[in-house]
Amino acid sequence: MKNAPGQCNICRKEYTSMHVEIMPGVIVYVCSGCLEKARDNFIWLCITCGKSYIRPKQLVISKVKDHELKKAYMLCEGMLIIQGIDMCIACNPEKILEYIETQQLPMEC
Ligand SMILES: [Zn+2]
Ligand SMILES: [Zn+2]
Repeated sequence: MKNAPGQCNICRKEYTSMHVEIMPGVIVYVCSGCLEKARDNFIWLCITCGKSYIRPKQLVISKVKDHELKKAYMLCEGMLIIQGIDMCIACNPEKILEYIETQQLPMEC
């Protein structure tokens, strides 16, 4: 566990002692401002290069074509989702959209 305050991994501006587990064993700092953003946005953090992606939930949900996945995303609408991804558009531009569209959401959803 991290106890000392650290730089927010999402915006890289604020210092905070709050942290979340974005995938098993990967804990990152998230400031209150970014937690607030997570109410209306899905936040993905690339664990390879450290880049963060913030996308409006409505937009993401409207783009999902898979019926079951859409339902899962809609269930997550009221939840705070900050999720780790192991690649992103900077690391792997072709894969990322496919990844987001096909990815299963974490168990908490
Ligand atoms: Zn932040
Ligand atoms: Zn990346």
